[in-house]
Amino acid sequence: MARYAEAVCRLCRRSGEKLFLKGDRCFTPKCSVDKRPKPPGQQWSRRRQKISDRGLQLREKQKARYVYGTLERQFRNTFDRALKQPGITGENLIVSLERRLDNVIYRLGFADSRPQARQLVRHGHITLNGRKTNVPSRVLKEGDVVAWRQGSTSTEYYKQLTKDIAGKTVLPWLSLDKDNMVGRVLSLPVPEDIDARFDGQAIVEYYSR
Ligand code: SF4
Repeated sequence: MARYAEAVCRLCRRSGEKLFLKGDRCFTPKCSVDKRPKPPGQQWSRRRQKISDRGLQLREKQKARYVYGTLERQFRNTFDRALKQPGITGENLIVSLERRLDNVIYRLGFADSRPQARQLVRHGHITLNGRKTNVPSRVLKEGDVVAWRQGSTSTEYYKQLTKDIAGKTVLPWLSLDKDNMVGRVLSLPVPEDIDARFDGQAIVEYYSR
């Protein structure tokens, strides 16, 4: 599947804020937003002054896509499903994105970033309810169990992770058995659990035109 070919830091700079797409590096002085806060391109200041409501809505939509690493069509499908659910569409959208398998792996601390979590799934290191899966976009439900494939527990990455995981905590809607490196979805997330870096309502307005 096609992915962003450009450096992910450029996506943060374009959004005008840190989106934390690169794991530990985002918390160091090497972060590109900290070093070069201006958006890429030479006309940034003039464009910034002229940004319209539509432009702001587009920016929020793009930020959500960048954070969760989805392409436009996949994101639109997620939005359409959120629209059909009862409740507030913007919140439904955030919760649906948060329930993605790659995000859950990231939230469990099995990866330092969502892109890294996606790679773990694609490379077949992860099982969902005891079965190997290579689909990072799977939407998890209450009671789902995420674990490591037996063959992957001999990798250096896994061995190091079993040491590093001791200091990690998980969100209230997840549980993590650190001895066996098994995560479980205790309940569906609520918007208050999620540090969303975008405005769900602005995305609803963007697609409502
Ligand atoms: Fe964004 Fe992280 Fe790159 Fe900083 S280091 S620009 S937060 S991806």
